[in-house]
Amino acid sequence: MRWALIGASTIARQYMIGAIRAERGNIVRVLSSSAERARDFAAEHKIPKSGADLQELLADSDVDAVYISTTNEKHLPQALAAVKAGKHVLCEKPLALTLDDATAMVRAAKEAGLVFATNHHLRCSGSHRAVRALITSGRIGRVLSLRLHHAVFLPPHLQGWRINSPDAGGGVIPDITVHDADVARFLLGEDPVSVVAQMASSGLGDGVEDSAMSVWTMPSGAMVMSHESFTHPFAGSGLEAHGTEGSIFAKDVMTQNPIGSIELVTAAGREAIGFDNHDLYRESVLRFHAAVAGDGEPAATGVDGVKSLAVALAVRDAARKGVRVDVNYGDLH
Ligand code: NDP
Repeated sequence: MRWALIGASTIARQYMIGAIRAERGNIVRVLSSSAERARDFAAEHKIPKSGADLQELLADSDVDAVYISTTNEKHLPQALAAVKAGKHVLCEKPLALTLDDATAMVRAAKEAGLVFATNHHLRCSGSHRAVRALITSGRIGRVLSLRLHHAVFLPPHLQGWRINSPDAGGGVIPDITVHDADVARFLLGEDPVSVVAQMASSGLGDGVEDSAMSVWTMPSGAMVMSHESFTHPFAGSGLEAHGTEGSIFAKDVMTQNPIGSIELVTAAGREAIGFDNHDLYRESVLRFHAAVAGDGEPAATGVDGVKSLAVALAVRDAARKGVRVDVNYGDLH
């Protein structure tokens, strides 16, 4: 697979270039809004071609697929242009700023017969898969509740558009709640129906929220509690799933790395649960490559990206209005 990177971003630098190459993907060019930055980024990562012209990148017949990791407001035009040029798309979350825009991107790829994937890394982790396997195999009985703890501290080098730019899609809800929505959907196999929420600016947010807490109603009746923040240096992350026959405690598993621990507690006692420690982003790329080759679906599809965004948008709406909000998933299935 021959890749072009759209966006000279931190996530590309820290995780995705390595993941693509580890899965034998060939990165042939990189795009930045600044030709100079693109050139420096290309030199740093030994990428043959660089530039600031999207149309030139998309006209390159050496490019099969694009990885879009620009700021959130750019995903829509870049994804639509890539699809128009016949390129497969792996797009960062949130797919877009609105449900209609995200839906348009995914629908365009579907109509063109191209693979479109969302880079929701957490469902690619061995830990989340192990938790899901415990739930689906009935080890905790009927699921009563899921608690998602994802209040972290945004490192200084990322304290830019995420904390001060609504126009670029900043705020903790599009950044982290969107991941947690995907986690709940992945673990429970159902989509939140309605949400109540509150949000706050607790030290970093400047024009956008930096913290959110919400409660989601699931079709089964299970309750989901979700907490995201950019301002919590020592909270640690994790999730708990509680059922009629047992509870799962997964610590430090809302991360970009294959770390953490899982414990199952039932009437029989406490049991440490092992899990595979493969690289999360490699798994995303692996499944994307397979999907392009006609083997299955990406780990998180475009529809998954639309649905996670729908939940995040409902959380923000509920927090703004102070009322319960039904999640609007649009008409894509
Ligand atoms: P960055 O701020 O690092 O990158 C976003 C854009 O900012 C880049 O495309 C680049 O623009 C510009 N930029 C980056 N660094 C510099 C710099 N030093 N000087 C000038 N401009 C710079 O954001 P992230 O990498 O953290 O996030 C990018 C996307 O990836 C977002 O959509 C985010 O939500 C998503 N993301 C997903 C993660 C996941 O696990 N799935 C984890 C982290 C982020 P240009 O390309 O024009 O040069």
